[in-house]
Amino acid sequence: MTNNLMSPPAHEEILSVRDLNVHFPVRKAGLFGAGAVARAVNGVSFEVMKGETLGLVGESGCGKTTLGRAIVRLVPPSKGGRVMFRGRDITALDNRSFRPLRKEIQMIFQDPFGSLNPRLTVGQTIGEALRVHGITKGGEATTKKVRELLDTVGLNREYANRYPHEFSGGQRQRVGIARALAVDPSFIICDEPVSALDVSIQSQIINLLKDLQREFGLTYLFIAHDLSVVEYISDRVAVMYLGKIVEIADGDSLYANPKHPYTQALLSAIPIPELGGKRERIVLKGDLPGPLAIPKGCSFHPRCPFATAGCREREPELKGLDGNPGHRVSCLLYQ
Ligand code: SF4
Repeated sequence: MTNNLMSPPAHEEILSVRDLNVHFPVRKAGLFGAGAVARAVNGVSFEVMKGETLGLVGESGCGKTTLGRAIVRLVPPSKGGRVMFRGRDITALDNRSFRPLRKEIQMIFQDPFGSLNPRLTVGQTIGEALRVHGITKGGEATTKKVRELLDTVGLNREYANRYPHEFSGGQRQRVGIARALAVDPSFIICDEPVSALDVSIQSQIINLLKDLQREFGLTYLFIAHDLSVVEYISDRVAVMYLGKIVEIADGDSLYANPKHPYTQALLSAIPIPELGGKRERIVLKGDLPGPLAIPKGCSFHPRCPFATAGCREREPELKGLDGNPGHRVSCLLYQ
């Protein structure tokens, strides 16, 4: 693994997503009507710079997990969009051509137990990843590398002989991280990696991810449903609503000066200790509509406290603010 101790984020793009769509047919067209399509991801574009953490936040069902899975090709994107990794269009590659790149982009899941084989010891699980990707060929070299990886994620070396059910939630997430690191990735998609953990354990895992990022020069896309979870780890944050990014900015700008009414509502739910409690809470009307019934115009208009007649007709673009082009918002109030 490349050891870029304490290297700062570089201004070099590692991932670029352009107009990505993930639409699933959920009912075929037939005699009795048209087919239905779930539009989980709709024309999403963003980029991630080498060495940074981009937080991706939104309510469950907003498409953020599907977006992460589409980047690593666990779900196929619909036609038209592109995912460029280190300047190569990986959406255009066949499976064989994608395989060498697959180990560069790893994923850590919310439920590490579900992604670990219960019949294999942790040493066997990590060893299998090492062998499949040709990092080691088994035997002593694999055992040695497994031990090093357990050290790296703060687990006792003896744990290599244990089965997943013998670990706590936080320890299992450390195993998931060790398995991802085994193949020497440069980019890791962390899909709600701390959502199922107690608050004290959450901060330990986030601190571990930050340490590993500094040590190995990793880049993260960190997916969460809560803006408070991503605040500490993210350099920039993207907020997603109904399959689209509605606001993206560096962390300081987004938390101090949120522009989109949806971001403002999400932030209003976070306690501010200095103020002795919460900010004025903005309660949104109604529930998140499903991906089968995305409202016309601005898709947020049925829940938005500032919606006008124009918002029902016109779809806003994701545009940079005057004087701060890196802070982009999809809202007609700013266009
Ligand atoms: Fe609200 Fe209109 Fe802005 Fe959409 S475009 S977020 S409905 S003000």
